[in-house]
Amino acid sequence: MSRSVTFKIVLLGEGCVGKTSIISCYTENSFNNKHVETQQASFKTKRLTLDGRRVDLAIWDTAGQERFQALGPLYYRDANGALLVFDITDEDSFNRVKGWVKQLKRMLGDDVVLCIVANKIDLEKDRHVSMQTAEEYAQSVDAKLYHTSAKLNQGIGELFNDLAARMLQKV
Ligand code: GDP
Ligand code: MG
Repeated sequence: MSRSVTFKIVLLGEGCVGKTSIISCYTENSFNNKHVETQQASFKTKRLTLDGRRVDLAIWDTAGQERFQALGPLYYRDANGALLVFDITDEDSFNRVKGWVKQLKRMLGDDVVLCIVANKIDLEKDRHVSMQTAEEYAQSVDAKLYHTSAKLNQGIGELFNDLAARMLQKV
């Protein structure tokens, strides 16, 4: 097998949109109904094989700095991929994504693979951000849109697989 490659992935998004849940769902197959604020910046790892190549993902969670809008360059420096997460029932969380996308593009340029993640699709009946609005926005910033539910484990594996493939294309 050819050499393995390691990618750093960061999650950005307002508190309570489901960032920690997405990571737990993907790396531990678990879901917690409670919001537990992550205390320290930390990462989880996941290994996968793609096109015969070993890919190690280092997936970084925030330490709750999003509350102070203080997720700075130290956090996303060297990121190969970024998940900009919002909650489809919360329009503010969608609008907040736009600021982070600008920041990321300014700091990392086109080196980072951007994913806009519409989470909590199991709460479709309370949706406040239409699919079309999200899709148009994602296209306008050259990002790809993903629809997920960390609660029901929907779209999560596909999201990370697709992101890994897109990051591999850049190396
Ligand atoms: P974070 O602050 O962005 O890390 O958000 P958390 O992962 O702590 O999740 C915040 C709350 O949303 C918790 O109560 C989770 O159980 C809940 N949650 C996360 N993802 C989903 C989802 O896909 N669907 C639903 N219904 N709830 C979710
Ligand atoms: Mg969290």
